[in-house]
Amino acid sequence: MKEILIVSGKGGTGKTSITAALASIAKNSVMADCDVDAADMHLILNPDIKEENEFISGHLAQINQSNCLSCGVCQQNCKFDAIKIRDGNYSVDAVACEGCGVCVWSCPASAIDFNDNLCGHWYISDTRLGPLVHSNLKAAAENSGKLVSKVRDEARKIAKSKESEFILIDGPPGIGCPVIASMTGVSAAIIVTEPTLSGLHDMERVLDLAEHFQIKAYACINKYDINLSVAKKITDILKSRNVSLIGQIPYSSEITQAQIEGKTIIEYSDGAASKAIKEMWQAFIEISN
Ligand code: SF4
Ligand code: SF4
Repeated sequence: MKEILIVSGKGGTGKTSITAALASIAKNSVMADCDVDAADMHLILNPDIKEENEFISGHLAQINQSNCLSCGVCQQNCKFDAIKIRDGNYSVDAVACEGCGVCVWSCPASAIDFNDNLCGHWYISDTRLGPLVHSNLKAAAENSGKLVSKVRDEARKIAKSKESEFILIDGPPGIGCPVIASMTGVSAAIIVTEPTLSGLHDMERVLDLAEHFQIKAYACINKYDINLSVAKKITDILKSRNVSLIGQIPYSSEITQAQIEGKTIIEYSDGAASKAIKEMWQAFIEISN
């Protein structure tokens, strides 16, 4: 079983559309939507949720007003400035609270509850293209790296039980903690970039990250024909870094049309973009084997 991460240095490069398209081609696969802060594979895959689970991470302080003496000790001790006075009462700002527990420990009246922090949910779903593990992280919830690891773990379990050949991971953008959690230990990373200077810069940052974690990286330029000179620069950089360019996908309004209809580009059309993605997968299989 191979875990393939599809990743980009920034959002909006077409990474999710390409991941879903690859799932259309690589039949025996499990999909993992690890872009947990902005999960959107479900928009294309219309999942039938089979299992819903809570994602609990850390604790959240909550002041029990009926026991509170209004002494202010908790506010003095909170290093995260998470305890405020609202309408004359001490209360915890749930977004600012880091769940360190210092206020709970220091409160002379034992007036602070310290409950599990429900940060979101994760799901196992059936889709027409195979099983999908996905999630819904609450707004401003942290620990997205931990949720990414959970989604990957569950996808692995399913792939193992179904003897799937591939796990296709739709990775988060950027190079932060969720990307690191998506990348560590994968079989290969396909970096999706676009021919803009920011696309080029962000691609290099992801390449650095892959190099750091010793992950074999491949690259694909989406909408390569909207700026051929930057596409050439990207090609030159990839050559100099010894990274295989496995696909150049032309701009196509069909990709947006496919999204509107809730289809992958492979399901929607046999046009140039669809063909380029099929060729890319073929090239990836040949080179990576
Ligand atoms: S330390 Fe306890 S009693 Fe004092 S203000 Fe905070 S919650 Fe209330
Ligand atoms: S748990 Fe820590 S961060 Fe949260 S309110 Fe208490 S002292 Fe502040």
